[in-house]
Amino acid sequence: MPELPEVETIARQLRARGVEGREILRVKVNWAPMVEPSSAAAFSTQVHGTTIDQISRVGKWMMFSLSSGQTIMIHLRMAGSFSMEAGQYDRLVLTLSDELSLYYRDTRKFGRWKLVDDPQVILDKLGPDALTRQFSPTYFREAMRKRHRMIKPLILDQSIVAGLGNIYADEALWEAKVHPERRSDSLDEAERSTLFKAIKHVLSLGVKNRGTSLGDGKTNYRDVDGASGGHREEVKAYGRSGKPCERCGISLEKMVVAQRGSTFCPVCQRI
Ligand SMILES: [Zn+2]
Repeated sequence: MPELPEVETIARQLRARGVEGREILRVKVNWAPMVEPSSAAAFSTQVHGTTIDQISRVGKWMMFSLSSGQTIMIHLRMAGSFSMEAGQYDRLVLTLSDELSLYYRDTRKFGRWKLVDDPQVILDKLGPDALTRQFSPTYFREAMRKRHRMIKPLILDQSIVAGLGNIYADEALWEAKVHPERRSDSLDEAERSTLFKAIKHVLSLGVKNRGTSLGDGKTNYRDVDGASGGHREEVKAYGRSGKPCERCGISLEKMVVAQRGSTFCPVCQRI
């Protein structure tokens, strides 16, 4: 599932391919339920003829700012991806000026494209992006201290910090040696500071490695070139249940925390 590093990788690649500054000459919606306004015709009419001025990202949202003043807010959800080449699961195709086409691919069909007048209607519901300065040690301390919640669902809550999903949450907790079921207000200053740094570290490393792909299946994350993310080799916890902890050698275990599978080390990450 694409998280902050995967969405950032795709946004950078789309900018590098010169998608910014191109006019949208044609819109083909192959799967109408993914677009809002909910009629494919209404979406296409409003987008047609505009220029994609800027591509940006906040948390797991990608944004195409259009010359009309509107913004397309894209959430890849489970398996959304982009390509410059046509493929089997293309749900939406933008034909751009100067002979470039952009194919939005989604095997699972959970991704969403929302056309909005003001992106703040969505951004206001998000906490600070995890890789910005607004996500600061002070902010994190206050967010943790005033809540009596399990730490893993807290860091997955996009209204508290935007960008983490299940992979990087497990990675950050393993790196910081914090059990996923610890109560947020039970962490001492040192633990909180270590976890804060671990969140920034695993996400930055994920971006540097162009994201994480965990398998070769069709639903797995692919970048714009169809390549797997290089971060797979760096994964320490997520999906490694039964394999040895790289720190202490004990087998990693899996448990369900707030309905999400969570892999952790029973020795390094004590409750
Ligand atoms: Zn361990």
